[in-house]
Amino acid sequence: MDSTNWPECMSCEVGHLVPLSDFGAQGAAVHYKAWVCTNPECEYNLKIRNGEIHINEPIIRGARVR
Ligand SMILES: [Zn+2]
Repeated sequence: MDSTNWPECMSCEVGHLVPLSDFGAQGAAVHYKAWVCTNPECEYNLKIRNGEIHINEPIIRGARVR
């Protein structure tokens, strides 16, 4: 993956925003539904849900380490 193709993170200006895909209610792939910064110390994220844009929501990690 060539990271220079992704837009720079507006928050930390170090990482890049990469698109994530999700699956809709009918099981169809929804592409580019969420974007997240590649810098783990930044975690800036942007999600599109029901036509609304949600910026910098707290990240819910799939695996809880604690
Ligand atoms: Zn960032």
